[in-house]
Amino acid sequence: MTSSEFILSNWGGMFAFIWGAIWGSFSNVVIYRLPAGKNIAWPPSHCYSCKHNLGAIDNIPILSYIFLLGKCRHCGASFSSRYAVIELISGIISLGIFLLYRTLPFQNFLTSFAVTFTFFQTLIILSFIDWDTFILPDLLVFPLILLGISWGFYTRGLTMTLVGLFSGSGLFIMITLYYRYIRKKEGLGLGDAKLLAAIGAFGGPFIIFPVILLASIQGLIFAALAFIFRISWPDPGIYVGITDSENDEFDEVIDNKGKWTLKPLPFGPFLSISTIEAVLLSTSLLVPFLNFFNIPTA
Ligand SMILES: [Zn+2]
Repeated sequence: MTSSEFILSNWGGMFAFIWGAIWGSFSNVVIYRLPAGKNIAWPPSHCYSCKHNLGAIDNIPILSYIFLLGKCRHCGASFSSRYAVIELISGIISLGIFLLYRTLPFQNFLTSFAVTFTFFQTLIILSFIDWDTFILPDLLVFPLILLGISWGFYTRGLTMTLVGLFSGSGLFIMITLYYRYIRKKEGLGLGDAKLLAAIGAFGGPFIIFPVILLASIQGLIFAALAFIFRISWPDPGIYVGITDSENDEFDEVIDNKGKWTLKPLPFGPFLSISTIEAVLLSTSLLVPFLNFFNIPTA
């Protein structure tokens, strides 16, 4: 068995899952430290309660959480299950990308996997930061746009990439400007427009409509379930180091505190999950669904 045969076999699938889970573990660090204005690389991960450094045995993705029953080995403080969930999601998505591309020639497989994995993992990080803070940081979104443009140019050429870039962001920019200057309030943040620019450049113009449709449907389903079952979630935390204009947006979000039904829902996570669905499930689930509604597919 050559190395390329090995990687494209079922062992490769297992490797892809572990690979994703390890990066999910690193993503946890970014998700918690970036909004807090803390250094990503230092100090090493430690218990937030007793400050003990966490060693290799505490840092095995998913498994450490299960074997240590979600508790610190030193002081018994509980860790949020969210760490393990993010590692699991990252592993599953990495496996999904592997299954999508495994039939490609080996060099194409490696390139496609690397680019798609980087794009999706950044979407996961952005989703949780947006969920926590209502901010999609430019520090992550701009590199994502560049990656999207490079990949779009490589796979579809310049014209389709530019059409994708602007068809995604254009609509959202118009809605945002309408709310900002005519209604004098923040409706959708420009962060969502920048995120859609990256998605449009990466996936091409035909991905935009399915992604917005899927994101809206899933956002509405989530809101309906939250309403029916009285599910609540924490108010957004403070993103350290944001500009004054972004602070105004944040104040408005805080003003809604207590008004349960008006609680805003960040759209970034829904755009992200819809993009991942559109790419990974397009051939099996999405194409029949979109064909049914006569929506063009890429
Ligand atoms: Zn501890």
